[in-house]
Amino acid sequence: MADCESELLIESLKAIVGLAGYREGADIESKNYQDVMGARSIPPVLLLRPESTEQVSEILKACHAAGQPVAPQGGMTGLVSAAAPLQGEISLSFERMKKVIEIDPFTSSMTVEAGVELQTIQEKADAHDLLFPLDLGARGSCTIGGNLSTNAGGNRVIRYGMTRELVVGLEAVMADGTIIDGLHKLRKNNTGYDLKQLFIGSEGTLGVITRAVLKLSPKPSSQVVAMCAVNDFAKVADLLVHAQAGLGANLSAFEVVWNNTYKLIDQHVPHATVPMEDHFGFYVLIESMGSHAEKDSDLFLEVLSQASEAKLIEEVIVADSDTKIKNLWTVRDAAAEIYPGVGYMHTYDVSLNVADMGYFGEEVESRLRSEWPDAILGLFGHIGDGNLHIVIHVGEDTLSLHLQIDEIIYGLIQELHGAVSAEHGIGLMKKQFLPYSKSEPEIALMKALKHTMDPQGILNPGRVF
Ligand code: ZN
Repeated sequence: MADCESELLIESLKAIVGLAGYREGADIESKNYQDVMGARSIPPVLLLRPESTEQVSEILKACHAAGQPVAPQGGMTGLVSAAAPLQGEISLSFERMKKVIEIDPFTSSMTVEAGVELQTIQEKADAHDLLFPLDLGARGSCTIGGNLSTNAGGNRVIRYGMTRELVVGLEAVMADGTIIDGLHKLRKNNTGYDLKQLFIGSEGTLGVITRAVLKLSPKPSSQVVAMCAVNDFAKVADLLVHAQAGLGANLSAFEVVWNNTYKLIDQHVPHATVPMEDHFGFYVLIESMGSHAEKDSDLFLEVLSQASEAKLIEEVIVADSDTKIKNLWTVRDAAAEIYPGVGYMHTYDVSLNVADMGYFGEEVESRLRSEWPDAILGLFGHIGDGNLHIVIHVGEDTLSLHLQIDEIIYGLIQELHGAVSAEHGIGLMKKQFLPYSKSEPEIALMKALKHTMDPQGILNPGRVF
């Protein structure tokens, strides 16, 4: 674009949103462009802060006509380096679109704008005796628009599914400014293609999500949590099957912390108090949520005692008060907080069959150590969903060496037919490894969709592929 054309575009974008709706130059805060993965810090040409779907539509119409690339952003908490702008991009922030529009108890739904923080949605649902079950560590700063565009997962997927399963209706704006109004509350709607799913999980490359109707669940009235010490992974897998069969729909989390992570938590996260000795192979957090406090607790204890009799677990700690429950979850959540103590740790998020996870853990460690004998690594994750996180530190230059580490991790994932991303997405960080988990025809279909929906390639260009 010639300079004068580009100036004209900038002026017309400012006119669309008005004075409060944009920032430029030194007025743009670094939180709007700093990549949390630490790699990139390029201020956008202009930060747009629209306050309505119509403004988003006008913005994209103008950018489409001018071939101007746009990077939409939520709470900037993503972990694949997708939302921070690249050189010459305009950033599109939803920080002024944070209205909770409606809570409808009859359809158990909540209608929200894209910029509402996840925690606000959880609290609003709770105040109406309902539950919005999506939950992840970044709840206080991530936004629902970001959760939707990345199809976020988190701690309770085993029971409630990922973000795409928690959406009834969706409004999105296409690259050329066309508004796709699917903002309805119909749980059953088989009128052709389910278009909302094209926008969910496509990381802002096919369209920009502006509003959503979210599915709420009844708020459980009982919660019991236990941490079980288990000595080998085959028993962890058996314990999962046992918990699923015994607790049925009450099973709301099955999280596992490997011994290596448990020790790192003990050493480096002072606010997390580990509840048992550190010589067991695996620490499994099991949670049950239901609607009959006494019955649910009895069933939970029964299932655990059967597991003990079957020699699946070595030791168990049961938490039945809010404080004790919080303490066990703090230990699990601390798995994601060990890096400041250790130094920079590269973070991985992969999917694989639960049956392969024990082997994967041992093999990752031995392949890493053959390259870096002093490598520090920690494994943990949402094992009930087949989702594993790995954090790795191989020394001062871990960040610059990450492609070599990636090869080891993703190479093994490819051998085991897993997915190089379970819940974080592809963004920029994983795009060269997309072919490890997606076939050529699948990638060709993805590219054809991208070309149809964004022919100028202005939406989050270069992300995903
Ligand atoms: Zn996770």
